[in-house]
Amino acid sequence: MNLIDLVDSLLETAGPAPIVVAGDPVLRRPSAPYDGQLGDERLARLIELMRATMLDAPGVGLAAPQIGIPLRLAVIEDPAEVPDEIRDIKGRVPQPFRVLVNPAYTPLGERVAFFEGCLSVPGYQAVVARHRTVLLHGEDEKGQRIDEEFTGWPARIVQHETDHLDGTLYLDRAESRSLCANHQVAERWAQPTPEHAARELDFPVPSRTA
Ligand code: ZN
Repeated sequence: MNLIDLVDSLLETAGPAPIVVAGDPVLRRPSAPYDGQLGDERLARLIELMRATMLDAPGVGLAAPQIGIPLRLAVIEDPAEVPDEIRDIKGRVPQPFRVLVNPAYTPLGERVAFFEGCLSVPGYQAVVARHRTVLLHGEDEKGQRIDEEFTGWPARIVQHETDHLDGTLYLDRAESRSLCANHQVAERWAQPTPEHAARELDFPVPSRTA
């Protein structure tokens, strides 16, 4: 199916789009740069569908390949309704809705390690070290240039979603021995940092400086 027919088939269906899970090659191939292939109206409708799908999941980010569209588009939004301690330690501050078109990032500063998950790998989380701060380059949905610094949890979301557009899943960057079912994280490893889990499950907490 060509790209426009693929997008139209998703737009014809009511409600959120089905989320593609690990095992589908669309999640493992680099997506194509967006250069206007869909036209403004179809792009706007696709972005609304991506947002609805993200909110329904619920998740804090969604990349186009996660609904089977191999284009360099992602949406992010995080109300970050979390306790103060989590906000302070993880930098989990609210991230307003944003559209990322052709995003790329430049790392700034140290890495920090926390549990994260992915809508395309349902049921599990693992510890991933990511840059605390990144400079995001790209465009918004209107083609306006973005060069913007993200820090804390929003920086993690930006890195995770941009990785999807390169065919990378968070598991590729995770400490494999830290893999946990969601309910195990909720019951045992809800501490704000993964050090306790690292001791009990015997995985190294990734370097803060590499
Ligand atoms: Zn993901």
